[in-house]
Amino acid sequence: MGKVTGFKEFERQDEAYKPVKERVEHYKEFTVPLSEPELTKQGSRCMDCGIPFCHSGCPLGNLIPDFNHMVHQGEWQKASWLLHSTNNFPEFTGRLCPAPCEKSCVLGIIEDPVSIENIEKNIVERAFKEGWIKPQPPKSRTGKTIAIVGSGPAGLAAAQQLNRAGHTVTVFERDDAIGGLLRYGIPNFKMEKEIIDRRVAILEAEGITFKVNVNVGVNYDAKELKAFDAVVLCGGATERRSLPTPGIDADGVVQAMDFLTQQTKVVFGQDIKEQVLATDKHVIVIGGGDTGSDCIGTSNRHGAKSVVNFEIMPKPPGHRSPTTPWPYWPLQLKTSSSHEEGVERNWLINTKEFVTDKNGKLTALKTVNVEWKMVPGERPQLIEIEGTEKTWPCDLALLALGFTGPESTLSDKLGIERDARSNYKAEYGKYQTNIPNIFTAGDMRRGQSLIVWAISEGREAARQVDIYLMGKSNLPSKDVSGDLVAL
Ligand SMILES: Cc1cc2nc3c(=O)[nH]c(=O)nc-3n(C[C@H](O)[C@H](O)[C@H](O)COP(=O)(O)OP(=O)(O)OC[C@H]3O[C@@H](n4cnc5c(N)ncnc54)[C@H](O)[C@@H]3O)c2cc1C
Ligand code: SF4
Repeated sequence: MGKVTGFKEFERQDEAYKPVKERVEHYKEFTVPLSEPELTKQGSRCMDCGIPFCHSGCPLGNLIPDFNHMVHQGEWQKASWLLHSTNNFPEFTGRLCPAPCEKSCVLGIIEDPVSIENIEKNIVERAFKEGWIKPQPPKSRTGKTIAIVGSGPAGLAAAQQLNRAGHTVTVFERDDAIGGLLRYGIPNFKMEKEIIDRRVAILEAEGITFKVNVNVGVNYDAKELKAFDAVVLCGGATERRSLPTPGIDADGVVQAMDFLTQQTKVVFGQDIKEQVLATDKHVIVIGGGDTGSDCIGTSNRHGAKSVVNFEIMPKPPGHRSPTTPWPYWPLQLKTSSSHEEGVERNWLINTKEFVTDKNGKLTALKTVNVEWKMVPGERPQLIEIEGTEKTWPCDLALLALGFTGPESTLSDKLGIERDARSNYKAEYGKYQTNIPNIFTAGDMRRGQSLIVWAISEGREAARQVDIYLMGKSNLPSKDVSGDLVAL
């Protein structure tokens, strides 16, 4: 424990954001880093709890009190070593994780919790700056070959772990660049893509082969995977949800992922024919989650005339709801930096029709207010409230409704069983599908989730693959469940 009275002396300090007016002019990150003395104080707020709930709140089992202590001591290199012992990519989670660890921090019961996520980001950024993060190729090779399908955080974590165990790893990615949703889902202003490139360069130097523009089961015969000793499917859960609403095919109703992907490609100089732009338009984003928030930030950067957000669920409480007490992941209203940039948020509202002109162009949305009827033992029922019909002018409606599950190409071509939620089926903790040498991890196995879970699953699946191939494994496994986070 850095300083016994740290939590009494110092208040939580977060990174500030650059002013809205300035940041909506570009697509770069806009946080203002804390100074080293400020970070040292933040590290000293950790109480080194006898039972560190932060540790079990983290799906990776990050050694949080230990690295907080090192930061307070100014031992940044040791902090980086500790952090990397459980997390392959803290530069991703340090920027993008909703930080369940902070929600389960003991200090959070009476004060603002320790700023764990920001400490994590600063440790890894310092380590890159100092040149402490170097490629660590394995000392010897086992002669076993592994194919990983999908280069999101799950695939990358599995690849790095299996390569460390001495196996020869090839990662196949259908997109033109590595990173999964980190590359083309999450906007550049939330994480600059050079952050991914920097890490991929390390992985390549460690001996991992990356093949982009290879869509397994489409432009690459899935049978060719048989040449590998083991396969890990990390294809994500990217089957998009739509609405059974009249007018859904109107010109101007666009899937959020198309909108976000196009913008990131444009930032990196690609020529997108007829890019969907929010410029000078009345935009309505349907869906109140992370994807919706990213669409709001992007629409404001395009220069939308107005940005409105619809969510069919009720507005969550401003504070923890009694149904999710500490240390659980709270049901609570989240206001992101994109929301702060300008949006009118509406809850308990349902879209009844996408109205078009005679050319099929979207002009408005018709909505009705709703309420949820809860009957114990039955599924919640959606009730429309009479007399609340409204028409909203709208030139661009962005569907940010989440994903229904993984795509079926790989399961069809490889004969992989799916579970009741359509995810690729694997025994819990084993990551092995019904085909013994084929494993699966990340969103493809658990459904649309979080980066931190994807990394955790990639690491754990790698260990199981290693045991399958070698009969034993020296790869680490977390000793906590992280199941305080039901995401
Ligand atoms: C817009 C958006 C914002 C988000 N924001 C956050 C956030 O702020 N914080 C957070 O923690 N989580 C966030 N998430 C969720 C997070 O991105 C995912 O949970 C995470 O990326 C899942 O990782 P994964 O490796 O399992 O899959 P993915 O990242 O989906 O990667 C799967 C990869 O597999 C590839 N692939 C699929 N099939 C094939 C095939 N047949 N051949 C070759 N390649 C294939 C895909 O192209 C893709 O690159 C967000 C998601 C979205 C959509
Ligand atoms: S729960 Fe909070 S205060 Fe306790 S060890 Fe973890 S970070 Fe430190």
